[in-house]
Amino acid sequence: MRHIAIVGSGPAGYYTAEAALKQWGDSVRVDIFDTLPVPFGLIRSGVAPDHQSIKGVSRRYETTALTDNVRFVGNVMAGRDVSIAELQDLYDAVVLATGAPNDRKLGLPGEDLPNVFGSASFVGWYNGHPHFAGLDPALSHDTAVVIGNGNVALDVARILAKSQEEFAGSDIVAHALAALDASQVRRIAILGRRGPHQIAMTPKELGELAHLSRACPRVDPADLPDEAEDAALDPGQRKSVGHLRTFAAAGPCADRDVAIEFDFFASPRAILGNGRVEEVEVERTRLEAGPSGVRAVGTGETYRIPAGLVIACIGYQTSQIPGVPFDEKGGRFANEDGRIHPGLYCVGWARRGPTGTIGTNRPDGFAIVEKIAEDIGEGSGKAGRPGFDALAESRGIHVIKFTDWQKIDEAEIANARKGAPREKFVAMERMIEAAGKN
Ligand SMILES: Cc1cc2nc3c(=O)[nH]c(=O)nc-3n(C[C@H](O)[C@H](O)[C@H](O)COP(=O)(O)OP(=O)(O)OC[C@H]3O[C@@H](n4cnc5c(N)ncnc54)[C@H](O)[C@@H]3O)c2cc1C
Repeated sequence: MRHIAIVGSGPAGYYTAEAALKQWGDSVRVDIFDTLPVPFGLIRSGVAPDHQSIKGVSRRYETTALTDNVRFVGNVMAGRDVSIAELQDLYDAVVLATGAPNDRKLGLPGEDLPNVFGSASFVGWYNGHPHFAGLDPALSHDTAVVIGNGNVALDVARILAKSQEEFAGSDIVAHALAALDASQVRRIAILGRRGPHQIAMTPKELGELAHLSRACPRVDPADLPDEAEDAALDPGQRKSVGHLRTFAAAGPCADRDVAIEFDFFASPRAILGNGRVEEVEVERTRLEAGPSGVRAVGTGETYRIPAGLVIACIGYQTSQIPGVPFDEKGGRFANEDGRIHPGLYCVGWARRGPTGTIGTNRPDGFAIVEKIAEDIGEGSGKAGRPGFDALAESRGIHVIKFTDWQKIDEAEIANARKGAPREKFVAMERMIEAAGKN
């Protein structure tokens, strides 16, 4: 028998469990730990609440979760409730699938001013992640600045721009819905250091901006390269840039209340304000060919955007865990193709950093199971599940099982406002209570 502990119940964790079941069938036992009482990582707390079809992937994980050989062990934080060394004593392999939950810092003066947030906290706020539910961003100024040119920046801009009616059918949490209803934000500036050809925004997400009821995207035609140059782009990028061209051609659309302005060649230099953000100082850039692609260099020309809210969507890093080697530069665990050392592995964002879609984590999970198979053979008679259960009992840890999560799930569905799929619990205690553990 092989005993495997997977730390993290997001896509990477569940794909690894799925691969372990395929590899070993009945001769493996997998425990999937999560610090939260609810599973599925960023599917629940990252993927936008108005993108329900994407969240539907969790049903696939449910199939894995409900097999006898896999357990969800929620409400247990590795590195706090149980150490990695302890898990390694109990399981033949420990796989860290902990994602990359921390915002990368901008490294700018003023970034610690109130109402300047990273996307992990802002997205966590509107998605009801218990760590960020109390964020309480002020949406009282007419301008918000969103820094970054990837899909997360698009999510954030879209959520800020939508009307209440457009959240019908979403699982945006009640506190965010109420705050957005009262929001005064009418201009959302999306800053990108480079130009339209360098965006990391996918066509579907970009195209959505053209269909918002009270908001409209604006692109300065002067920022677009000559159309003939689009031929050098890959098809997806070409489609995305095509959307930007359409936005530019449509003009400023004066009939809409909210403008989503793409500000290309714009590098934030400082966040200014007295007790709270009031302005963002930006330097104009130009592109220069560098050894690793096109990079933005400052032109010396600066300008200021008056703004009451700043959200940096510039990437994430993995949380460090005591005793696990960390790659500071990459912001992830130090590893070689997922192997930290025999017996200890990482997958998903904890291995690669914050890149790729949900599906990208699947091959990761399968590849790591091959490595584990090479390292652990038939297993070495470790204690596995009963060993962990004894430890948890001795420490008074309230483990949340998958069947407990199903009770939380049912309660959330029952609490849904009309037309919504669920109303999430946003406090750990409420989740644990709904699981019947208190
Ligand atoms: C805002 C946002 C929107 C996105 N939207 C999309 C989209 O629309 N489509 C798409 O394909 N991809 C999207 N992605 C990317 C996708 O979410 C990731 O590819 C995927 O979630 C990464 O999976 P993961 O398992 O590595 O990490 P995560 O999903 O982050 O899961 C990590 C899990 O580990 C747990 N954990 C962390 N530390 C510990 C610990 N010490 N002990 C126990 N448990 C721990 C966490 O609670 C979490 O459940 C989005 C990402 C973000 C940030």
